Amino acid sequence: RCVLELKDITRSYGSIDALDRLSLRVEEGEWLAIMGPSGAGKTTLLNILALLDTPTSGEYILDGRKTASLSEHERAVLRREKIGLVFQQFHLVPYLTALENVMVAQYYHSMADRREAEAVLRKVGLGERLSHRPSQLSGGEKQRVCIARALVNEPALLLADEPTGNLDERNEGIVLDLFRALKREGRTIIMVTHNPNLAKEADRIVYLNHGRISPVNPFVEEVVDA
Ligand code: ADP
Ligand code: ADP
Repeated sequence: RCVLELKDITRSYGSIDALDRLSLRVEEGEWLAIMGPSGAGKTTLLNILALLDTPTSGEYILDGRKTASLSEHERAVLRREKIGLVFQQFHLVPYLTALENVMVAQYYHSMADRREAEAVLRKVGLGERLSHRPSQLSGGEKQRVCIARALVNEPALLLADEPTGNLDERNEGIVLDLFRALKREGRTIIMVTHNPNLAKEADRIVYLNHGRISPVNPFVEEVVDA
């Protein structure tokens, strides 16, 4: 079953095509890594997939829905229902506990359920950290709260932007284990990453260059963007 399809997507900023007639199909249960040098269009692609940005031309079909004709409100609803987002900079609410941070995502879904929020935190190994605030959590634990928050509404698609970017080696390993477990559960995952340890675990690596998909990895990275 096809979770999403991009058909001939272009995203222009003035004369620059950040994405240039890009097509991509992702099946349910697939784990995709997106790699490429700085400026390749990775962030632009992730924003379009997350319904945070709209293509200049081309078609994006998410879970059978054509997204082009949707209103801003319908896009927001679709995003909350279908997409879980994990960021490099965790974006947790500092004065809320781990549990409350996960429950915020449920409120947006208008079905807060404390037991479910606790269950998803236990699942990411944070059963003993429910009442901790972000400042009391390690980087790896914060990232796992983010992953729990992204998962709590059972999204059709999990999108992650450099999920190990701010983690040390040990916590990178923990997050890697977690993504492996999500893959085994049949989750559909798309992640942008510079981390080869993470990318090699994916089912498929998509290399972007100048807004297009490149069949091989022709890049030697000089600068890793923050
Ligand atoms: P990456 O995430 O791979 O580094 P981006 O998607 O951020 O690439 O950028 C792709 C191209 O689009 C770059 O040339 C970048 O300068 C340009 N770009 C991205 N966002 C904007 C913007 N808001 N305004 C103008 N140009 C942009
Ligand atoms: P600590 O309290 O020392 O930071 P954790 O409780 O965070 O340890 O993690 C202990 C171990 O459990 C880690 O080695 C990690 O790999 C594993 N782990 C935690 N959560 C998961 C998960 N959801 N899936 C797989 N392994 C996990």
